[in-house]
Amino acid sequence: MDRALFLKLISSSAPALLLPGKLWAEDYIQDYTPQELIGKAPRDLVGSTYLTTMQRDTARALKLMQETAKKDGIEIKVVSAFRSFDRQKEIFENKFKRFKAQGNTPEQAVNRIIEYSTLPGTSRHHWGTDLDLIDGGVTAPESVLESRHYYGSGVFCALREWLEANAAHYGFYQVYTNHPDRKGFAHEPWHYSYAPVSIPMLKAFMKLDLEAILSEEKILGASVISGSFLAEYRKKHLLDINPLLLD
Ligand SMILES: [Zn+2]
Repeated sequence: MDRALFLKLISSSAPALLLPGKLWAEDYIQDYTPQELIGKAPRDLVGSTYLTTMQRDTARALKLMQETAKKDGIEIKVVSAFRSFDRQKEIFENKFKRFKAQGNTPEQAVNRIIEYSTLPGTSRHHWGTDLDLIDGGVTAPESVLESRHYYGSGVFCALREWLEANAAHYGFYQVYTNHPDRKGFAHEPWHYSYAPVSIPMLKAFMKLDLEAILSEEKILGASVISGSFLAEYRKKHLLDINPLLLD
């Protein structure tokens, strides 16, 4: 991302010092409470609708990116941004019940869920920095967030190509890339993260004692979420992402 643009984006908010070569500001890392990192006490969110509520600096960068995309005929539309702990818990538990009802063991059910969905408290959407994007200028298919719509003759193919060419200029990076060696969550061509804020948030998040936090919550399927399960989950699902979002 362009340094001048970065400074413009952050100028009115954070006491940030951008080091050369860094996509993020070191100072951000001091700031986050555990409750904020797990989606229980969000702050600095903006947005007029439930679906498009996001972190302030992310919203500012998105707006600039949308304006440029529009000139190229792409209407970047957000279908998911900030998501609370309670909402993620509801998503997780609904899937758990559904997969159990289909005959899966609790372990199988949880493993199926984490192909695409996170454990409550561990979603990058809790930070307000991560967005699921579609093209609002085309007729949307019934279920929008599916890879096939973003490739080949899919309706969001032009959006994906535009984002892959331009999003980094605004600080947005695809999280779950299609790199063949990547583990963890399946490839999500729609999911972008605002690196200047999400990189320090991830660093702060990784210092949390997830086992202690999750054991306090009464989550369906908790028996599967052991210390060793979480160690693997951290390695594959939380950290095996686009390396540009790690530092
Ligand atoms: Zn997403």
